[in-house]
Amino acid sequence: MILVSACLLGHKVRYDGGENGQALLLRYVARGQFLPVCPESAAKLPVPRPPVEIQAGTGADVWAGRAVVRDAEGVDRTAAFQYGAESILSLAEKYQAQVAILKENSPSCGVHQIYDGTFCRRKIDGQGVAAARLAKEGLRLYSEKDLTEEMLLALLAEDQAAEEGQSSRRGAR
Ligand code: SF4
Repeated sequence: MILVSACLLGHKVRYDGGENGQALLLRYVARGQFLPVCPESAAKLPVPRPPVEIQAGTGADVWAGRAVVRDAEGVDRTAAFQYGAESILSLAEKYQAQVAILKENSPSCGVHQIYDGTFCRRKIDGQGVAAARLAKEGLRLYSEKDLTEEMLLALLAEDQAAEEGQSSRRGAR
């Protein structure tokens, strides 16, 4: 299975109740190889919810204890974001996922860039809290902006081959 940010598959889980459905991903959703994940929903944060940004750092800094996650009302959401990240890591391990396609710029899912914590729409290089956790465990991360159809087809083929390998090993036992 390939982990995919649920909002990229049209699930209305964004902080504002919206979604970020991507036509390319939706074209291949019927293959059943995408596992929709939303770390903020997994943390039981409501929809809608105030926007959140990592303050003075990146997802990796949050895990290192050097940065915190706060919503626009100043509430510390660090523990919830870490809980949500661990939840989707558990799913990745359960399904032996090697790849995740995640929503760019999100404080949870951002792969290359996130907002800088000032709520002024400025971006910095770095990953979100969940993306950093998955990367630490060795998953390969792509954002929706990285993907071409050719790349996606290669990832789907790789995933299918891995699934067939796992099935044949289970059958041989
Ligand atoms: S946490 Fe990730 S999956 Fe959930 S709404 Fe934000 S970007 Fe989408």
